Amino acid sequence: MNEINKATAELQAEMAQRMAINPEGTRRIGNFGFIELEESWGDEATIINTARISTTNQRLKSGQDFSERDRQLLYQLLRDQHGTPFETIYFRFRFIAPIFVLRQWVKHRVSSWNEFSMRYRKPISVAYIPDAAARTVDGYAVLDEAALAEYEALMSQLFQWYETQYSAACARIDQARESGELAPKEGGRDPYRGRARELLRNVMPVAAYSDVYWTINFRSLMNFFKLRRKKDAQYEIREYADAAYALFAARLPLLAETMQRVIDESAGESAIQEQEHNGLGG
Ligand SMILES: Cc1cc2nc3c(=O)[nH]c(=O)nc-3n(C[C@H](O)[C@H](O)[C@H](O)COP(=O)(O)OP(=O)(O)OC[C@H]3O[C@@H](n4cnc5c(N)ncnc54)[C@H](O)[C@@H]3O)c2cc1C
Repeated sequence: MNEINKATAELQAEMAQRMAINPEGTRRIGNFGFIELEESWGDEATIINTARISTTNQRLKSGQDFSERDRQLLYQLLRDQHGTPFETIYFRFRFIAPIFVLRQWVKHRVSSWNEFSMRYRKPISVAYIPDAAARTVDGYAVLDEAALAEYEALMSQLFQWYETQYSAACARIDQARESGELAPKEGGRDPYRGRARELLRNVMPVAAYSDVYWTINFRSLMNFFKLRRKKDAQYEIREYADAAYALFAARLPLLAETMQRVIDESAGESAIQEQEHNGLGG
């Protein structure tokens, strides 16, 4: 790993702190990645109570109070795509992932995003380095050690170039202020340094890490799991989706189990329909 900047060291320390505070709710991924299920609002009872608005005034306190009938209703609602009760519970994840993963993730439009911006701070100075599993397909290494060494060197060079140019730009701005060419800095954001960061960030590779708060309701989260935990999703986003699933399942096991059942059944039905379409049906 290349030498990291101060802000990146602080981020690393923050991750370690979050893992100490919330060991069950956090995971490290790859060489610098991280995901945490920070908060969630509502549970299986919220969903069932919402669904029963028209039929009863009795409300359940939590998913742990469920009878077999409640469990069956949860399953049927999910299977039959009664969407809105599943939109009433929310999850807030925080993840640190490479920008190329973020570009796939952000396509899940039904969710709220807040992302770290290189307009205001220097980049997170770590690039994603594919480990042996990421570089191997069916036992075949698609990038060898020599290619990997060049990849790492190239990434280091980009971060180094940014640091050098940004320091030089800041020194020039300071000098111009000292000589009176520029007015002294007033409170708030420095527009000159800010513009330098805006331009210099353009050289950052999609392998650079970024930092996101992601808030999503269960209906949309299920769609994310369905699409991004499948084999045809890219390896890296799948790693994050699997970790997000594990954190979610630890918090709401009944909902996770019900969701998995519905996803598996719908995958089974799709496979049968495909076979029939191709004339392979039994
Ligand atoms: C294996 C894989 C490969 C992919 N390849 C590409 C690719 O090459 N290029 C690319 O651009 N994307 C690609 N995608 C992204 C994909 O097209 C979806 O944008 C992404 O998976 C988000 O899914 P979504 O739209 O269901 O999710 P969300 O945006 O979260 O939407 C959730 C649901 O809300 C509804 N919805 C949301 N917005 C609308 C709308 N405007 N109109 C109607 N209904 C709406 C839909 O029912 C949708 O399923 C790929 C995804 C996967 C899993």
